[in-house]
Amino acid sequence: MAADYNVLERAGRTGENHEFLLTPGPLTTSKSVKAAMQRDWGSWDQPFIDLTAEICTGLNTMAGGGDDFVCVPIQGSGTFAVEAMLGTMVPRGGHCAVLVNGAYGERIVKILEVMGRCCTILRSPETKAYDVAALDEALRDDCTITHVAAVHCETTSGVLNPLNAIAVVTARHGRALLVDAMSSFAALPIDVRALPCDGLVSSANKCIQGVPGMGFAILRRKALATTAGNAHSLSLDLHDQWVYMEKSGRWRFTPPTHSAAALAVAIDEHTGEGGVGGRGGRYASNHGVLVRGMREMGFETLLADAVQSPIITAFLEPADSRFSFERFYDLLAARGFVVYPGKLTVAPTFRIGTIGAIEAEDIRGLLKAVRSVLNEMGVRDAAPARETTAAE
Ligand SMILES: *Cc1c(COP(=O)(O)O)cnc(C)c1O
Repeated sequence: MAADYNVLERAGRTGENHEFLLTPGPLTTSKSVKAAMQRDWGSWDQPFIDLTAEICTGLNTMAGGGDDFVCVPIQGSGTFAVEAMLGTMVPRGGHCAVLVNGAYGERIVKILEVMGRCCTILRSPETKAYDVAALDEALRDDCTITHVAAVHCETTSGVLNPLNAIAVVTARHGRALLVDAMSSFAALPIDVRALPCDGLVSSANKCIQGVPGMGFAILRRKALATTAGNAHSLSLDLHDQWVYMEKSGRWRFTPPTHSAAALAVAIDEHTGEGGVGGRGGRYASNHGVLVRGMREMGFETLLADAVQSPIITAFLEPADSRFSFERFYDLLAARGFVVYPGKLTVAPTFRIGTIGAIEAEDIRGLLKAVRSVLNEMGVRDAAPARETTAAE
């Protein structure tokens, strides 16, 4: 395969990776993050207890939590953290309004339904940001709503929801906001005290650039202290995890030791890059290079630029009948770039993530590979069918 971009050469930086994951996580991690997993840790040993405390302090600082908030880590993928936050923070007799404009908002609804919590769904189209006025109205009309759940960056489409406006409206009505900041935390500014919110979740393997295995919640200490007995699940009880950890410094049940060790290094690298500003700046530059280059080839983004996040971008599939996503995917993967299928109902799309240990230079390598793949497929113009264009 005559790749015009030397992936193997670039692999030195990411530790023998032969492929770049241009996905929303797991994503490309640095060589030093992977190297941190070469040691075995005893979960009861002081060094691992210290490592856990260091991670929690680092994440709480990143969120602007101070003494009012605590970071509670939880084993599992990001969804486990979402489920743990909802089950712990929303009491059994609570009522949660859920803002939905994609698959992750739908997942919050499903979680609440499975655990038997009352919920009200406020849907917006997948290509639009949340409707803040509709939330305002719902909170005014229904005083039984106790909590509001929102997704910051809806990874389904890449749409960035207006978190500050949501928080202001929720606080004005005296309700508690819970945020799925899975794909935005560490790259886009979020200050939990200033927002305000009662809780936020994210995971190790998104913009912090760690590896999968654990998520975490940043929770308002006063609110968390009132949640004993709320949880529907033993293993996903964040109050219990918190109380045990405060007492012993240890995780209840086996911790993801290697993932935690990698996360500690990833947090150091995040700080070294200039924190949220530095990390978000690199992603914005990756995203800018990607969108300009793809538009030059005729591709169109699903979303209008005003609601597009720099995390992941959905592109409409070209109308040319010689284009097939499966073939496009395979030919790009053979050139060292793994992209992501679409997950939308409104139009056929595919997605390209711009997060992880990748730089503008890597995106330029991807653009060359896309050009060469289109050539190989015989697609001369990447423009989508007119009627599916949503980004006007
Ligand atoms: C990735 C992601 C999740 C969690 O997904 P997992 O597959 O369980 O890690 C939740 N919400 C959003 C917005 C995400 O991007």
